[in-house]
Amino acid sequence: MRKQWAAACIVAIVPIAAQAAWVAISSDAGKRVEIDPASVRKEEGAKQVVLGRILFDKELTDPRTSGPYKSIEALTRYDCAQRTYTTLKRTWRSAEGELLREEEVRSAAEMPVRSGSLDDKMLREVCRPKAPVDQQSAASKVAEKANEAAAELRKANDAMIQKEVQKSLKTAALPAPAPAAAPAPAKEAAPPAPVAAHAAPRPRPVRRPALQPGHEAAQQHAGIHWGYEGEGRPDNWGKLKAEYGTCASGRRQSPIDIRDGIRVDQPAIEFGYRPSQFRVVDNGHTVQAYVGGSSITLLGKRYELIQFHFHRPSEERVNGRGFDMVVHFVHKSEEGRLAVVAVLMEAGVENSFIQTVWNHIPLEKNQDVAPPSTLIDPGAFLPADRGYFSYMGSLTTPPCTEEVLWLVMRQPVQVSADQIATFARLYRNNARPIQPTFGRLIKESR
Ligand SMILES: [Zn+2]
Repeated sequence: MRKQWAAACIVAIVPIAAQAAWVAISSDAGKRVEIDPASVRKEEGAKQVVLGRILFDKELTDPRTSGPYKSIEALTRYDCAQRTYTTLKRTWRSAEGELLREEEVRSAAEMPVRSGSLDDKMLREVCRPKAPVDQQSAASKVAEKANEAAAELRKANDAMIQKEVQKSLKTAALPAPAPAAAPAPAKEAAPPAPVAAHAAPRPRPVRRPALQPGHEAAQQHAGIHWGYEGEGRPDNWGKLKAEYGTCASGRRQSPIDIRDGIRVDQPAIEFGYRPSQFRVVDNGHTVQAYVGGSSITLLGKRYELIQFHFHRPSEERVNGRGFDMVVHFVHKSEEGRLAVVAVLMEAGVENSFIQTVWNHIPLEKNQDVAPPSTLIDPGAFLPADRGYFSYMGSLTTPPCTEEVLWLVMRQPVQVSADQIATFARLYRNNARPIQPTFGRLIKESR
C-alpha cells in the first residue's frame, strides 16, 4: 500500500508544478493571466523567476500535438532593473490540467518588456516591492497559507520522492525530475482556482520527455539528427522521430511553389518593426537573430516578432522561380499562433541590414553573440512594395508544425553576391524542397 502511494506521488509531482496555487493578475476577453506566487524565486541582481500562465476560456488546438489545450504555463525570468524578460520554459496543459507538452527554451534571449504588454503586467507584479500583508489580495493570502502547508508536506516527502524518482527513472520513461531551478510544486490541497477546469485529477506521466540536456543521449539513440543531406535529409525527416511525423504526413506543408493565387485586395500588413538590440546564434541549421519590440498586425491581430533566420537558396518559389536566399521573420501571437513573413533575396547591391547580422555571426555554434551597442532595424529590410502572397503552411524544419500563416513578400530585396557567398560558407544549402499544395488556397495582393 505504501509503495502504491509513493508511486502515485511521483506521478503527481514529477510534472513540474502541476498543482500551483494560481492568483489572477489580469483578465481579458477570453483569457486570464495568473501567476503562482509561491513560485517566485529571486536570482542575483534584480532578477526574479516566476511561473505564470494564460488560462483560456475555451480550449485551443495545439498545432504540434493537434490536441486541445486550455492553458500555457511559462517559467520566465524578469530583470526588474533592465525591464527585460527571458522565457525559460513553456508547458501546455489540457482542461484537466494534464501536461500535454513541455518546451525548454534553448537559446533563451532577453527581450525588452513593452509597456502595456502581458509581460509588463507580470513584471510589475513580480518586481513590485512586497506589500504589507493587509494590502495583499485575499487570494494571495489564501495561496500563501496553502503553500506554507504544502511546504511542510513537501519537505517531509522530498527525500523519499527523490529516491523513488531516481529509481523509477532507471526503469520507466518518466521525465527527469524538476531541475533545481524550477519552482517547487504546491500541494494538491492548494485552494482551487476559480475554475472547474483546475480541479484536476493528478496528471498522467508524460510520454514525451522534455527537451532537457540530460535527454540528448536518449534522443540520439532514436536516430539521426535532421539536416539537409545524408540520412537526416528532408525526405527522411518524418521517419527520424515520432514528433516529426507531420513532416511526412502533413497536407499543409511548406515551402511551396507559389502560383495560381487568387488576386484580391489583401489587408495591409502593418509592420511595427523598430530598431532594437539583437542577439545572433548559429544553431547548426541556420543563422538566427533575436530582436525585441517589433511586431506585425494583420486584421487587428498582433503577432510579436520572435526571431528571424535565413535559408539558401530561398525555400519558396514563385511561379517556379527560386531566389538566392530568403529571410523568415517568425512571429507569434499571444495565443501562440505563428505568422512568418518571408522576404526573398536576390544578388544586387550590398545590404546594410544583412551586413549587421553577418558582422556578428558567432565563431562557435549555439553560442549567442549580443553586441551591446549595435541596433538592428528589421524594418530596413522590407521591400518598398508591400504586396504579398498568403497561404497556410507549416514550419519548414522539424517538427514541421502546421497552422502557420505564411506572408511572402512579392518584391525581393537586393543583397550583394559577397553577402550571399558569406552565408554560403556556413550553409551552402539549408532549404527544404517544395511541398505539394493539395489544392490549398493562395492569395496574392492585387
Ligand atoms: Zn525558415
